Amino acid sequence: MNYSEYDIQYIKGVGEKRAKLFNKLGIYTLDNLIHYFPRKYEDWSKTTTVLDAPTDRPVFIKATMITPVKESMIRKGMTLYKCNFSDGQNVIHVTIFNNKYLAKALRTFDEYILYGKVEKSFTSAVMSSPQIEKADSAMGIHPIYSATGNLSAKAIAKVVASALDKVGHIEDTLDPAILEEYGLCSLDFAIREIHFPTCMDNVATARKRLIFEELLTLQLGLMLLKTKKATKNQLMLTEDYSNQFFNLLPFAPTGAQGRAISDCIRDMQSDTAMNRLIQGDVGSGKTAVAAGVIHTVVCNGYQAAMMAPTEILATQHYQSLSKLLANTHINAALLTGSTKPKEKREIKQALIDGEIDLIIGTHALIQNDVEFKNLALVVTDEQHRFGVEQRANLAMKGNNPHLLVMSATPIPRTLGLIIYGDLNISILDELPPGRQPIRTDFVNSSYHSRIYSFIKKEVDKGNQAYIVCSLVEEGESDLIPATEYAQKLQNNVFAGYRLGLLHGKMKPKDKDKVMNAFANGEIDVLVSTTVVEVGVDVPNATIMLIENAERFGLSQLHQLRGRVGRGNSQSYCILVSDSKSESAQERLKLMKSTSDGFEIADYDLKTRGPGDFFGKRQHGLPNLVIADMLEDMDTLTQCRDCAERMLAADPKLDKYPLLSAQITQMFRKADY
Ligand code: ADP
Ligand code: MG
Repeated sequence: MNYSEYDIQYIKGVGEKRAKLFNKLGIYTLDNLIHYFPRKYEDWSKTTTVLDAPTDRPVFIKATMITPVKESMIRKGMTLYKCNFSDGQNVIHVTIFNNKYLAKALRTFDEYILYGKVEKSFTSAVMSSPQIEKADSAMGIHPIYSATGNLSAKAIAKVVASALDKVGHIEDTLDPAILEEYGLCSLDFAIREIHFPTCMDNVATARKRLIFEELLTLQLGLMLLKTKKATKNQLMLTEDYSNQFFNLLPFAPTGAQGRAISDCIRDMQSDTAMNRLIQGDVGSGKTAVAAGVIHTVVCNGYQAAMMAPTEILATQHYQSLSKLLANTHINAALLTGSTKPKEKREIKQALIDGEIDLIIGTHALIQNDVEFKNLALVVTDEQHRFGVEQRANLAMKGNNPHLLVMSATPIPRTLGLIIYGDLNISILDELPPGRQPIRTDFVNSSYHSRIYSFIKKEVDKGNQAYIVCSLVEEGESDLIPATEYAQKLQNNVFAGYRLGLLHGKMKPKDKDKVMNAFANGEIDVLVSTTVVEVGVDVPNATIMLIENAERFGLSQLHQLRGRVGRGNSQSYCILVSDSKSESAQERLKLMKSTSDGFEIADYDLKTRGPGDFFGKRQHGLPNLVIADMLEDMDTLTQCRDCAERMLAADPKLDKYPLLSAQITQMFRKADY
């Protein structure tokens, strides 16, 4: 039977009306239902006696009903039922409000399990509105499902039970050999035991199998995606122009830059289209890599596009690429949300005509109405802001262009392989020479006046500074919003200096204006929210002061710190925090002790979880039901090995039709 085609409404006890309630829980098919796992369990065999029952939490008591139910009307629409139970030694009074159905079902001298809180007085024990089940059928572990409205956890359990009856033996998706190798139970056992466990040990066994299954499906899906995407290169490059490009550079490329560029060019000369990620710590020189790749693409007669997550970055890229490619015939244009309509029209036309070789811009670029003459390369910067989905969208443009993704967020290797499972990776593990390490200090706010004097001294030498404070948008009372803070500084400490303000609520055009002024040295001190976080490059800036540093993730702090130390002068990062929290202290001390982005990312992952890397759904990966990327990291690694070997032996998973169907199902929503 195909469980994923079987509509939930035909399962015994569901029907059309109830099916709608199941739909609310995301359950549409029989397959969805048996994969709707309990949230927790209650062990109804762990009973206690009236005498031993604690009164601070609900307990299970096995007792016989010894008096018939007495009914009394408290007021209109409110009926109270009372009856007495005995556990063999003591009596417990039970009261039931309004539940006529339950009251009528109870039989004197039958044995029940009562589940609820016991209230004890000197002479008696009472349970109000307990859950009551027949003892013979209720013993054992009960699954508790997340319920909705009129659909109780108990009702869900009943339907799951009849669904499991209906499906019979659940065919396994994996070989016995794999199960044995990884110490996994059968799928049938796992599904049955996760819903109706015989003991809690079996829940653990079942979970292990189901987590493995889910992560393996994810891994296989991503790997297949990679091979699927990697089918055809319709935009074959014939010549490698990187040596000409290196001659254009005002500096010698680092070894890592050279390797990354040739990785890319080799990709684009191969049979399969490029899908590559350049991962480089802040300041490792990703822009020059992009420029080099673009240069070769355009010299081969094609067009290229580069996208950035913000206008500021797009504008900066436009400026730095224009500079790097100034002595070439490459014609570049900038297209963002604030490009004037007339100019936009002209740019779009020029793209169709092939007069523009390189277009740089924001998301506006992926809008459907931008067309190209012969787009061969799409570069996206600061990839963690783009999901897999958006990447897939891009791939649809033109004739399946080569894709180059650049990320400045060092991502722990394990996670990287998942998030970027569909990409090949080049790592820029070398900083340009002559960089002085940034000096990082961690102080409390009593140091402010000393810090300000220090900043003024630096500015007097001709350098610039960033002051980053918490988001102006949040408007939290104990933190001074950026706007107010900037005003205060300008009026007092920094009177006579040129201050600028940058925050997320400003219009893109105004942001650009400020950022450009800062880049051109017309602003001495830039007070900003985290909008400067990614990518912005002002080599003359030597100080990064971060207020309330405890509020930022380490990777974010690392990004911010990366805004300085980009020129040849000594740079400083000053973290200010009054937080007494031990973990905050420890995190900020780590920032002081290392400048290795990967080490910082690992620490962030361990202490804050993968949220910072995944940014809730931004990654565009399918939702996981039972596995947890962080907690199940070891399983994840196992699954990667397993998936690699399975695909090596059977590239299209012909031997695993059930698994294939499961992959399709998992990736369906993500629209690949
Ligand atoms: P990121 O990798 O953070 O995007 P950028 O591409 O902005 O780094 O480069 C950081 C700075 O280093 C820029 O000012 C750039 O001109 C400079 N740079 C890049 N590559 C080299 C190199 N090989 N030698 C010297 N300076 C370089
Ligand atoms: Mg950059």
